[in-house]
Amino acid sequence: MSKRDFYEVLGVARDASERDIKKAYKRLAMKFHPDRNPGDTQAEESFKEVKEAYEILTDSEKRAAYDQFGHAGVDPNRGGGGFGGGGGDFGDIFGDVFGDIFGGGRRGGGRSGPSRGNDLRYNMELSLEEAVKGITKEIRIPVLTSCDSCHGSGAKKGSSAQTCGTCHGQGQVQMRQGFFAVNQTCPTCHGKGKVIKDPCNKCHGQGRVEKTKTLSVKIPAGVDTGDRIRLSGEGEAGEMGAPAGDLYVQVHVKDHPIFQRDGNNLYCEVPIGFSTAAVGGDIEVPTLDGRVNLKVSAETQTGRMFRLRGKGVKSVRSHAVGDLICKVIIETPVNLTERQKELLREFDQTMEGSSKKHSPKAEGFFDGVKKFFDDLTS
Ligand SMILES: [Zn+2]
Ligand SMILES: [Zn+2]
Repeated sequence: MSKRDFYEVLGVARDASERDIKKAYKRLAMKFHPDRNPGDTQAEESFKEVKEAYEILTDSEKRAAYDQFGHAGVDPNRGGGGFGGGGGDFGDIFGDVFGDIFGGGRRGGGRSGPSRGNDLRYNMELSLEEAVKGITKEIRIPVLTSCDSCHGSGAKKGSSAQTCGTCHGQGQVQMRQGFFAVNQTCPTCHGKGKVIKDPCNKCHGQGRVEKTKTLSVKIPAGVDTGDRIRLSGEGEAGEMGAPAGDLYVQVHVKDHPIFQRDGNNLYCEVPIGFSTAAVGGDIEVPTLDGRVNLKVSAETQTGRMFRLRGKGVKSVRSHAVGDLICKVIIETPVNLTERQKELLREFDQTMEGSSKKHSPKAEGFFDGVKKFFDDLTS
């Protein structure tokens, strides 16, 4: 199947800013989201198409590759995005954009009949390693679950809920006020459309009981703080057998003692001795998979950044892999012996008279200071 142009899918110009792309995406994702179009496969296809276009065009590297090479530049084997695929026990990953749009209140009230169970939120703390590599975690949550004694109906064994005689199962009744007919919630069944004559002993007719549920949650590799994982139907049970709500696992990644994460890149500071910095050498730097060697070139100044490609985080959405960025910090030696101090003084003497040549920063700095005082006195 030939693919549509990503810019065309989102309806944006080829030079559209990231903001415009996000805006277009939000609008289209809302329109085609499966929650809003249940059972509509055409909408689902459109949703996947929009999602893929968005993922490519908001990733600057992929966008550049796409602009240059078209679909061939962005790995044709990985079409379709992450929605609904892959099985497992999570339905969807809600990132920054989705977090804003579908933040609860989904399928909100208004409709009569037994109400759907509430969505629940579970805050999960993860270490950086767990977030990067993915993990399966057991969580225990207190939820209202369907009563096993009455199978959620709320009616005593052997009996069943009856259609409400007042509203005939509509949940609403029409009241006349002068010339107007007004719909009101049925006073007999309170909008449920059913009445229970003989309530279940265990749940007292609610159809739900509170229980602690243990769930195994599969966290995909690459998640970050702010990501949400939806477990369909794992929220609270609905009233009288109505559908259950969803459970949202909200990810929070704890600070790491060595690495800081910025998107898919990892960042760390590595102290090195000044002699290594001056003459160059191999140092060991940490990565999430263990230590690796890094070649420090001669005449390295403090604060210089070294990029280790592909040693960052694999994105949960696009499968792009980030880099590890090491910033070297040159450390002044401490606890020197007399002999070592002697050697350093001797070393210093060899620099005398030619310090400008050896200290590129100092040269500019002292020139600046001199100019500053010259300007003051003139
Ligand atoms: Zn019951
Ligand atoms: Zn009623």
